[in-house]
Amino acid sequence: MAARWSRQILFGDIDAMFASAAVLADPSLAGKPVAVGGPPPRGIIAAASYAVRRFGVRSAIPTIQALRLCPQLILVPPDRPLYQRLHRQLQEVTNRFFPETEWTSIDEFYADTTRLQTRHPDPRALGRTLKADILHTTGLTCTIALASGKTVAKIAADAHKPDGLAVIEPGAEAAFLAPLPIRSLPGMGPKSTEAIERLGVHTVGDLLVSRFEPALLRLLGTRLAAFQSLARGIDSDPVVADRETKSVSHETTFDEDTNDPNVLEPIIHGYLETLAHDLRLEGLAAGSFTVKLKDSHFHITTRQRKFPTPMNYDPDMWPDIRLALGDLIQPRSRYRLVGLGLSDLVSAPEPLFDRRQRDAVAALDRLIERHGAGVVRLGALPHGEEGKRKRIRRTPD
Ligand SMILES: [Mg+2]
Repeated sequence: MAARWSRQILFGDIDAMFASAAVLADPSLAGKPVAVGGPPPRGIIAAASYAVRRFGVRSAIPTIQALRLCPQLILVPPDRPLYQRLHRQLQEVTNRFFPETEWTSIDEFYADTTRLQTRHPDPRALGRTLKADILHTTGLTCTIALASGKTVAKIAADAHKPDGLAVIEPGAEAAFLAPLPIRSLPGMGPKSTEAIERLGVHTVGDLLVSRFEPALLRLLGTRLAAFQSLARGIDSDPVVADRETKSVSHETTFDEDTNDPNVLEPIIHGYLETLAHDLRLEGLAAGSFTVKLKDSHFHITTRQRKFPTPMNYDPDMWPDIRLALGDLIQPRSRYRLVGLGLSDLVSAPEPLFDRRQRDAVAALDRLIERHGAGVVRLGALPHGEEGKRKRIRRTPD
């Protein structure tokens, strides 16, 4: 039996969750070229099944482009109530296995399994049991990876999708990462990757070759140190469990660091629309919010504020959030990640707004169900957000 690990992190990621959920809802779609998204001309692909990825269809590309790449594409509208139901079922499973789970999106989670090694001494067996339970409970396949740190576990899972199981033994992190392409590293976007590859640096291991260092330092500045320590297998971020699960949040890492409010504001606003919509569906309202920024030196700053009263109607919530974001942005910093969380969730008091407005919001929610949040909006919003969404790196897998 393997030796006990001094730290063990498990990462789980449902395979193509929205596309897989569409197949659960309609089994006749199994194996077919399914993608979830809004209709052309303005719709965006939210999730692509593995059957359409070989055509080059990816999340966040316009539906119109996806249809050009794969004319036989079957477009399915998003079904958020179904995703929420599946998420709750997933939480039931993780709550049975782990005392604490950190959910980083509707279908991705981390658990610190260090103390579970007495009960589950074989990490591979733990992964297999969890995968089987998730499949049995939800009908969804997932990829699980165990490693000594979160980032290595996430990279290992990405490299073993779909329906994979990866165990990176302690001490084997650097050797596992070394042959991987540098774009496997979180925060390494297409532009950085291209510039680095022009230097002749192609793999994670190359980041540690001393003759490349001066050129890499010029290109990446202080970010180089963080990438290099990861390449050496140093990966110590803690699992931060949502203790009361009384919050919802969303965050994204950019391809290019930015401090432009015209980029950051529409992104945070987009998260707010989606999160507020989810709250309304659940009959919940948020008492407070947290705006989070991570700068190019990986330093995280947050602003947490209370709403005057619990809310779930995004146009009423936006002014406070926008102010907090403005406070947080430092002109001399550039940011690699932005996030929004809504917390202190309570049952929505009735009525949160007058009846006519409530009917309008209900109609809006029906439209969002049918077409996705990207195509409908309420209130005064700058347009042109679609272009900026392409900067978002996140690929829901
Ligand atoms: Mg996934």
